[in-house]
Amino acid sequence: MSKAIYPGSFDPMTCGHLDVIRRSADIFDEVTICVLNNVNKSALFSVEERVNILKEATKDLPNVKVESFSGLLIDYAKKKDIYVVIRGLRAITDFEYELQIAQTNRKLSGDRLDTMFLTTSLEYAYLSSSTVKEIASFGGDISECVPEFVAKLVYEKYGVAPQR
Ligand code: ADP
Repeated sequence: MSKAIYPGSFDPMTCGHLDVIRRSADIFDEVTICVLNNVNKSALFSVEERVNILKEATKDLPNVKVESFSGLLIDYAKKKDIYVVIRGLRAITDFEYELQIAQTNRKLSGDRLDTMFLTTSLEYAYLSSSTVKEIASFGGDISECVPEFVAKLVYEKYGVAPQR
């Protein structure tokens, strides 16, 4: 059975993430989304909230699981016996950072852990969780960036009413 991990912060999950998840679920028999609890990043949503959002958004995808992990991705991969990592690439600016992480993971895992990149669908190329948060914090329209139920949760966090 082909298995892969899609790790990230997902704070919050966007339509860009969802696009990568759907496409990966077509390629692999099983995809585990792993919300990494990164202590260096201050998050808007708790890990539990982010996991719940991802579960709700992927409930129609039977071969997608959602979990969380604090620590190194290679330790999680080893524990799960999964050796393919999926990452999304939006632009050349993502590339340098992603290449470094992919090579570090490969080195740390004794050449076992490989990374596969899916390039973003063009309509989501501009999208990032930080952009969504910035727009929402000013009450701007994020309806094309995240599913409707996520938009509602983001506006609630900022205590703002959306302008439409
Ligand atoms: P991290 O904080 O680990 O970079 P993110 O939640 O920001 O995690 O992103 C997780 C993964 O999804 C990364 O590989 C990122 O490049 C990818 N990604 C983010 N936004 C998009 C998008 N709009 N289209 C395609 N991939 C994306």
